[in-house]
Formats: sequence, structure tokens, C-alpha cells
Amino acid sequence: MVRSISSDIKPGKHPLVSREQGSFPFLDLTAQFATIRDEVMNAVTKVMQTQRFILGEEVELFERELASFIGSRFAVGCASGSDALLLALLALGVGAGDEVITTPFTFAATAGSVARVGATPVFVDIDSASFNLDANQVASHVTDRTKAVIPVHLFGLAADMDLIADTCGKYGISVIEDAAQAIGAEYKDRRVGTLGTFGCFSFFPSKNLGAAGDGGIVTTNDPILADRLRLLRVHGSDRKYHYQILGTNSRLDALQAAILRVKLKHLVFWTECRQRKAAVYRELFHEYNLHSLIHLPAVPDNRSHVYNQFVIRCQNRDGLREFLDRSSIPTEIYYPGPLYLQPAFAYLGYKPGARPRAEAASREVLALPIYPELTEEHQLAVVHAVASFYGRRRKE
Ligand SMILES: *Cc1c(COP(=O)(O)O)cnc(C)c1O
Repeated sequence: MVRSISSDIKPGKHPLVSREQGSFPFLDLTAQFATIRDEVMNAVTKVMQTQRFILGEEVELFERELASFIGSRFAVGCASGSDALLLALLALGVGAGDEVITTPFTFAATAGSVARVGATPVFVDIDSASFNLDANQVASHVTDRTKAVIPVHLFGLAADMDLIADTCGKYGISVIEDAAQAIGAEYKDRRVGTLGTFGCFSFFPSKNLGAAGDGGIVTTNDPILADRLRLLRVHGSDRKYHYQILGTNSRLDALQAAILRVKLKHLVFWTECRQRKAAVYRELFHEYNLHSLIHLPAVPDNRSHVYNQFVIRCQNRDGLREFLDRSSIPTEIYYPGPLYLQPAFAYLGYKPGARPRAEAASREVLALPIYPELTEEHQLAVVHAVASFYGRRRKE
């Protein structure tokens, strides 16, 4: 697969490495839209003709289809992935005085939602190979105030769920999966979002299943909790102007649901494309003799990675990033620091060095472009540029 392009394109003279030609974005949503344009436009038109925008049939159908894809009994749409986490915490009654254990190496929403409901995020260090919360350290952070653990299936790889479930089962703590980056990822033949009390998903446009704006969903197998989620997203209202519980306004739009129904049908194919791109990267990094300098994403046994991001760990990350930037190779840093060092979380009192593995990762990680429409030529340009930086050549 990779070899076929090597005969056409000479390393060192690769046209895509120059600034003038062939530069490509970190993520190309327009390329994907071009493949489903008619389907999407028809779905949008249908909703526009009904003028039913809030909840309704499209949302119900999408919830059912998404639940069936994930393998959960229920799915409740909401306004964003951040709200999915918030609603899950509210449904469990987590609030002031409670603690929730999570990872500091994640997007702000994970710990932010905990703080938003008045509870205290408790940060556990990560496992260096998977970047996920170190399941071995959860038990030692449990107190009599711990109400939940939020593992994040970071970059598209499931956390160590058996160990987390064991620990949580032992102490009677709930598990809320932050599956925003990992829709479709498997853990021992089950999809993420079915492994805890709740699974929280985001349809932010850059996620593997992206809406045309914000959107989110919570999955659960518990009918009582599903009902509570449905109340919470409409101000606790079970019928007009009757409020059972204190809620909020957090709904998935019918337009988003209609678009997501179209895109869900393609998700398995797109995921396979991402996995193929990852395999191509692996092969190229080996061919360029870079595997001793660069750590490629780990995929433990019994898990599948859906590569929302392809994150490598490397030496002199900042130098490499600058070099790649000058070579028109787009990259990103997820995440430049642990959440506890952000001003918003300073009140928690963590000091630099508190979670050393998360901090080391934040200095060494680099996300390379990965999306279903990325071409092998682009990938070769990426790896060739990385090799140039480290002075490595392709094996003969
Ligand atoms: C994207 C993301 C969220 C929240 O998603 P939004 O839909 O943008 O609110 C939460 N957690 C993680 C890990 C994410 O990547």
C-alpha cells in the first residue's frame, strides 16, 4: 500500500513538502461534505419543510439509531458534549461537597463539568503509554466523598475499563465515560458508552461523528436515569409548565439530528479509513527508521482505536513542530498542559509537578493530521518532513 507511492514520489524531492504547492489542512471537513452533499441537503430540506426544530421525530429516530449503534438501551440527545457530561452528573445528583476522579490530560469540559455542578475534580495521573487515566491510581484517590469517576477515552482509545469498573464497584461509585473522542471504539467487543453508568458523546464538527454545529448525547442502560436526563434537558418539565426537578435547556436540534442520521450511516466506513491511515503512518515511520525516536499510539489488546487524533510522542517536540510548520505540515498539540495548571482550576491548589506523567506528555505530544479523506501523498509528506528534521532517511 505504502510502497506503491514510494515508486512515484522521491523522498527529498517531494513536491508537497514545499510551501507553494499541495499544502493540506489539519482537518478537511469540506472533503467529507463533498461525498455526502446530496444526502445531507435532502435531510436539511426535509426538516425545513416541517419547521419542527426542537426535539421531535428526527431527534427520536437519531437517538434510537445511535443507541443501537453503541449497544446501549437509551440515548438522550443534548446541546453539546460538555452538556452531556453536565447532565450525567446532574442525573446522578453530584453536587457541592462531592468529589469526582478524572484525568488532567483532557479537554476542559471533562473537569469543567464537575466544577460546574459544584463538585471537586480530583486529578489522577495518566498512563504514559495510552495517555488515559491510570486505572491503578484510582483506588488511592477514593474518599467517602467520591461520587463518580470520569475516564476519558482519549484520542479514540478506550481507557482501562475493567480495572476502573472493579474499583468503582468495590466502593459503590458511578462511572461516567467521556467518550467524546471515541465513538465506535471497542473495549473487549463492546463499544464505549456501554461500559459505565453513562456514556457522553460530542458531535462537535471535529469529532469522528460531527454535526453542523454543536450537539451531544448521553447513553445509558438505566431507564430511570434516562427519564431523568430527558427531564433535565427541558427544565425538568414532564408536561407543559409543570416542573418536576430543576433542569436546564439542553436539546439536540432536529436539524443536527437529521444531519447526524445521514452521517451515522457512514461512520463505520470513516472509522475504517482512519484506521487505515494510522496503519500507513506506522508503516512509514518504520520505513524512515523513526520508530526508535518516536512513540506511536499504543493499542492494547482487546481494544480498537478510532483515531480521532493520531498523537505521537517525540524528542524536541517544539523544534519539530516549528520545522513542520515551515514545511507546511499542519499539526496540533493536545494538550499543552494538564488542566490543573490552567487559571480556571488554580483554586484547586495543584502545583507544577503534581501529576508528572501528564506534564511530561504535554511537553512531548504532537497530533498529526488524520481524517478519512487524507491521502497517502499527504501522509508521506508528513513523515518525510519528520524524518528530515531528525536526519533520518528512508530504508533502501
Ligand atoms: C470535545 C470534547 C468534549 C466536549 O465536547 P463539546 O461538544 O465541544 O462540548 C468533552 N470531552 C472531551 C474529551 C472532548 O474532546
